[in-house]
Amino acid sequence: MTAAVSLLDFDVEGLVAWFAELGEKPFRARQVMRWMHHDGVDDFDAMTDVARSLRARLKEIARIEAPRPLRDSVSQDGTRKWLFGVDGANAVETVFIPEARRGTLCVSSQAGCALDCAFCSTGKQGFSRNLSAGEIVGQLWLANKLLGAARDRAAADELEAGEKDNGRIISNVVLMGMGEPLANFDNVVTALRLMLDDHAYGLSRRRVTVSTSGIVPAIDRLREECPVALAVSLHAPDDALRDRLVPINQKYPLAELMAACRRYLERAPGRFPGRWRIRSRRHRQSRVPVFTSSWGWPISAPDVPIRRWMR
Ligand code: SF4
Repeated sequence: MTAAVSLLDFDVEGLVAWFAELGEKPFRARQVMRWMHHDGVDDFDAMTDVARSLRARLKEIARIEAPRPLRDSVSQDGTRKWLFGVDGANAVETVFIPEARRGTLCVSSQAGCALDCAFCSTGKQGFSRNLSAGEIVGQLWLANKLLGAARDRAAADELEAGEKDNGRIISNVVLMGMGEPLANFDNVVTALRLMLDDHAYGLSRRRVTVSTSGIVPAIDRLREECPVALAVSLHAPDDALRDRLVPINQKYPLAELMAACRRYLERAPGRFPGRWRIRSRRHRQSRVPVFTSSWGWPISAPDVPIRRWMR
């Protein structure tokens, strides 16, 4: 028996192509896409405007399956952290950070990470595997459900005007969880396209951020294929220190990384600004002038607030 196809793995274009193979029109794909992502529906029988015969067929050959929640912790300030199981052996962390004017979801892109940054507990675990597009966007799908955002338009309407982006509980997504997103490029870009698509989550490019440790060729590809906001984790002001803290720097040293960042900004000047992240308090205090004077760019602190349990 053939394994059921995971519909969360498709962006709109991919779902239209898959429906075409079934002999179905593009609008059917968009209908199903809206049920899945807009309304958080994972039961084909609930898709009432989809033809009954198609629903029956989808039940036989397809599935809508997000990661499974294994642990759910809420801090005093409302920050919520989940451990989501992605298969029998791997789990990833997803964090929702509520603030007065926005709600940010931090999602993972890999189970483990191969880049082995000196300060990072995920890197110390080693690399297990890339997450599929469905497992990446599935974190957003599931968080919306667990937060009561999916199908809860009434609750969204009760929010004070301007409190959240268009009344969304999750107004921003950052790929800053486990893994290096640009090392899982194709699946990440498919997930990004779903986050941006009006038939799915309809977030603006400014509100979706990819955080990278600096894989230069992939930064150039992202600029061409899906230029969302970019955060670059620098951690050090010079190659000598960065080589030790962020080993990928030995392959793509700071001068190459900065050149890639310039190219990225040229593609979308002023619209998708890079964010120069410095984690260490020592560096933030003592080294910022080195960055600002030599590169001539403003450095912003992480746009995700630091929570006690976050590293
Ligand atoms: S790239 Fe990110 S997740 Fe991977 S080891 Fe470095 S800091 Fe950790």
